[in-house]
Amino acid sequence: MNKKRVLVTGGSGFLGSHICERLLGMGQEVICVDNFFTGRKDNILHLLDNPYFEVIRHDVTFPLYVEVDEIYNLACPASPIHYQHDPVQTTKTSVHGAINMLGLAKRIKAKIFQASTSEVYGDPVVHPQPESYWGNVNPIGLRSCYDEGKRCAETLFFDYHRQHGLRIKVGRIFNTYGPRMTMDDGRVVSNFVVQALRGEDITVYGEGRQTRSFCYVDDLVDGIIGFMEKTPDDCIGPMNLGNPGEFTILELAQAVVEMVGSKSKIVFRPLPSDDPMQRKPDISLAKKAMGWEPKIPLRKGLVKTIEYFEDFLKNQ
Ligand code: NAD
Ligand code: UDP
Ligand code: UDP
Repeated sequence: MNKKRVLVTGGSGFLGSHICERLLGMGQEVICVDNFFTGRKDNILHLLDNPYFEVIRHDVTFPLYVEVDEIYNLACPASPIHYQHDPVQTTKTSVHGAINMLGLAKRIKAKIFQASTSEVYGDPVVHPQPESYWGNVNPIGLRSCYDEGKRCAETLFFDYHRQHGLRIKVGRIFNTYGPRMTMDDGRVVSNFVVQALRGEDITVYGEGRQTRSFCYVDDLVDGIIGFMEKTPDDCIGPMNLGNPGEFTILELAQAVVEMVGSKSKIVFRPLPSDDPMQRKPDISLAKKAMGWEPKIPLRKGLVKTIEYFEDFLKNQ
């Protein structure tokens, strides 16, 4: 049996739990490392019976000594409310976390994936965003702890690659949604779906003219794992991973209200500072490198997400 042993940091979070589940389904052995800051045991409860699944409570800003073949580094709070809660810790998680995971990868010669983000493009003036675009990021604003932390992590990945020959894969993930998002982490899809299901006002920030491109979680997991498994070692990224279908936030609000059949009213609230006006991935590289593109359009993904939150709210 050549089961690979795979470390997933942030493995009890929204994306991490889906990655753990998929890797176990592929017959790999999985070590999930998480400090449970935003992750939840409920996300991985169904995996705990699997003898090839192991959980370690650990903060990646501290060194970690394990023996694995591959690493998926996802540990980092991802929603603005959570990453702004303790901004210094957010930067430490991205930067010290990357250094520790790269040091680990170097010692054990493991291939390592970094969950980077479309936030490295900041409020982009190039649209859609290709990987060659260097971005437009405020280095001292409220989002900087996350944006600059992730940018510095990319720098570290590329320097460990150049300096130490590490096998790296840097994926720039665009807004992803689906089951196991946290109900109250403030991200737009979970906010709107929960508000619509409860008949509460739908809180659109600004005039809702800003755009985002939403990828359903299963498509994203295909992309991340495809990048690790199917692309050659010289394909290191950065690689955009997201769904190019672009919507205004107002369009999203209207779609959610209609699909839930909700009586919720759409209300307008102040736009948070440095909120990017537009975002859409150019995914030509992912298409060319691994024949990947998302298959699940927004409305189809929303159906599954609405079902998840309906169940979740019932069982609360
Ligand atoms: P999430 O908040 O659900 O998951 C993050 C996980 O990391 C949580 O389980 C949390 O407890 C854990 N964590 C945080 N700090 C840690 C630390 N210091 N040590 C150990 N564990 C720690 O968020 P998510 O949406 O699943 O995001 C996962 C990764 O993907 C993040 O790195 C995020 O930046 C990146 N990403 C996500 C999106 C998205 O739309 N979901 C977009 C771009 C990038
Ligand atoms: N590290 C780790 N696990 C390992 C090996 C290293 O957490 O198995 C950490 C280690 O604590 C160090 C960081 O990774 O701070 C970077 O390691 P590297 O070897 O690149 O640097 P150095 O140890 O020389 O500072
Ligand atoms: N947003 C909104 N109402 C909400 C939550 C978010 O209008 O209740 C907007 C937010 O201002 C941003 C977009 O939706 O323009 C996406 O926000 P999210 O926090 O999900 O992701 P990010 O801004 O990091 O892309």
